[in-house]
Amino acid sequence: MAGLYIHIPYCKKACHYCDFHFSQSLKQMDLMVETLCKELLMQSDYLGKEVVHSVYFGGGTPSLLNHEQLKKIMRIIQLEYDLSSNPEITLEANPDDLNAEKLGSFKNLGINRLSIGIQSFHDKNLSWMNRQHTGQEAIDSFFLARQAGFENISIDLIYAVPAENHDLWEADLKQAMLLHPEHISSYCLTIEPKTAFGKWLERGKLEVADEDFAAEQFEMLIDYLRPYGYEAYEISNFCQPGYESKHNSNYWRHEKYLGIGPSAHSFNGKIRQYNVANNGQYLRSIADDVIPAEVVWLSEEDQINEYILTSLRTKWGCNLEYLKENFDVNLLVEHRDYLNRLSLQDYLYQEGHHLILTDSGKLLADKIASDLFVRSEE
Ligand code: SF4
Repeated sequence: MAGLYIHIPYCKKACHYCDFHFSQSLKQMDLMVETLCKELLMQSDYLGKEVVHSVYFGGGTPSLLNHEQLKKIMRIIQLEYDLSSNPEITLEANPDDLNAEKLGSFKNLGINRLSIGIQSFHDKNLSWMNRQHTGQEAIDSFFLARQAGFENISIDLIYAVPAENHDLWEADLKQAMLLHPEHISSYCLTIEPKTAFGKWLERGKLEVADEDFAAEQFEMLIDYLRPYGYEAYEISNFCQPGYESKHNSNYWRHEKYLGIGPSAHSFNGKIRQYNVANNGQYLRSIADDVIPAEVVWLSEEDQINEYILTSLRTKWGCNLEYLKENFDVNLLVEHRDYLNRLSLQDYLYQEGHHLILTDSGKLLADKIASDLFVRSEE
């Protein structure tokens, strides 16, 4: 099963924490849509004969697309790609873009899952992050989506906001539970160098939350959501039973996916392909019939280590048999003492052929994965 990702590289406003690729000038959106359609045609062989079971409109802000623009893209996908009988089709949306008419249009065009970028319900936090919407607008947009018939809605929440305390984070979680979305993605605020926050930090104008504060809020998140029936199926992703994101699961299970648009990337098992993160260069290159992508061959070591890193973040864990069969790597033999120690410390357990992190192990996921990495002889 394969996935398709379409990057819509436009935003009305730049959120202070965001380092995704987007432009705030919306003038060339029509041309961009034509060009995305052309790239979809040019890349239609990339996935081979694989059936596409998830389509994901990410960005940027895909909810800026109007009915005609989205219709053009959906039409090419339906004509040129082998969609499964019930594909998951997700569109990322900002609350301030959503109204009954727009939501109706998304529904009519086959979008069956919304990912709403709420981030926080506190106006002070939202304005500090330079979000375009208020907490109330976020709540209203969620109910509008329900009224429009969306039965699979994900919301994004950010934690470890420095100005926040645990009471405010708990209030955010409480409000989220009142909405009861099928899926929640919740990320720790990280400060990336090229963002506004990154620049503030450089100039000494921003204090970041310390690791303990972030860890406490992560534990609150897990403890708060569990009694409401949410399963932590990946470190940052929680869902009601049966509502795992097919699209994200594709990434973590190392399935094939094709990314269309500036900055989008693709993976076919052995090669990663990165489209240029520049709208002008992307438009010119596709006009010249050239996919503007950098191709990176993954060494066997890269493939193994990527697998360990991503699989340990999920509830399915790291499949020891998969590593043995595909790469002749036996973690149980090579790291016996270390794995025993982790197990005694209650960071990890083995279930069948799978190594799975406990809640406290998840806080150390990157370190544990890195300790298990395969390293070529130097
Ligand atoms: S967080 Fe979303 S809306 Fe904000 S700048 Fe980034 S892509 Fe745009």
